[in-house]
Amino acid sequence: MARDAVAHRLFNFCAGPAALPLSVLEQAQREFLVFPGTGASVLEISHRSSAFKEILGDAERCLRRLLTIPDGYTVLFLQGGARLQFSMVPMNLLHNQSGPAQYVLTGTWGTKACEQARREGPVEVVWDGAETDYDRLPSASRWNSSKNAAYRHITSNETIQGVQFPSDPIVGDTVLICDTSSDFLSRPIEISHYGLLYACAQKNAGPAGVTIVIIRDQLLQRSDAALPGYLSYREHALAGSLYNTPCTFGVYMLGLVVRWLEDEVGGLEAMDRINRCKASQLYEVLDSSEGFYQGHAQPDCRSLMNVTFRLPSDELDDAFVGQAESEGLCALRGHRSVGGIRASIYNAVPVSGVAALAEFMQDFQSRNA
Ligand code: PMP
Repeated sequence: MARDAVAHRLFNFCAGPAALPLSVLEQAQREFLVFPGTGASVLEISHRSSAFKEILGDAERCLRRLLTIPDGYTVLFLQGGARLQFSMVPMNLLHNQSGPAQYVLTGTWGTKACEQARREGPVEVVWDGAETDYDRLPSASRWNSSKNAAYRHITSNETIQGVQFPSDPIVGDTVLICDTSSDFLSRPIEISHYGLLYACAQKNAGPAGVTIVIIRDQLLQRSDAALPGYLSYREHALAGSLYNTPCTFGVYMLGLVVRWLEDEVGGLEAMDRINRCKASQLYEVLDSSEGFYQGHAQPDCRSLMNVTFRLPSDELDDAFVGQAESEGLCALRGHRSVGGIRASIYNAVPVSGVAALAEFMQDFQSRNA
């Protein structure tokens, strides 16, 4: 990428679509006009061509290696974002089951997933953090459990409130479903604990447009033959993610991101260490600010991806966002539904960007406290 263009890139704290690794963007730029061996752009080749099948197969192989996805799980690259999964999960896994779907409501996204599931069948809310504005998580022992549940749905990281399960929850025999959209690929995850995981790509895994589903093969049997084809996991699995034209460019970019994680970062454990180090810099500023910065999440479930906090007034929130922007720290405004500040510090946000934000926060406090 031309160096003068790179110099204009700001530190981007957007919650998604979010920052992508510079070396990934540079490789995509190099290959943009002619994808090696094809004489055309990756945007211009058939999804049934051998070149694209190689891209798709490679993305899946790398993802399986990176996440150590066990045999007996199918990986799907779909479209429709995580929101379509809010519906596809109950359409495929709740219809014709004897028990209800159980939802753990830890924030906005879990709540929205639950609303969609209600359209498909019986739902039981096993925990709801609304009373404390979704600032905490339940411990697994506090979840009501009914043995015959069709599945239990959690959101590993609530992007808007900034609360995150610190580790994979254990739920016994219940099929666990996880919306892992905003912490996918940020740390190792024990896939075998889950019946199904899904994630939209536009936080840690690539551009908007591709959604990753990892499903235990046995669960594919639950997809009713009467489901519309696109909405059936079984149809997608049978077609190897080529039921229809997939988001080809998104799959290509996802493949590059996964390779970046393997080759440049050194895997998910290394990524996790970096992410912990980045998040702790910001939480330390919050904790030493004597209440100037008020974090939303309880300390034991603070998100390593989305750091959410407020200043003493809405006016100061506005001034913070405006001044940060003029210092090259952009997209820090909290989600429109909750206000305040949100620093999304996904994988591709560099340590130097987080350090610059931490320094700006201390400086802003000293000028405004
Ligand atoms: N779940 C979570 C945890 C999210 O953060 C988001 C998007 N911010 C969604 C679901 C919805 O994703 P999409 O817009 O791709 O449907």
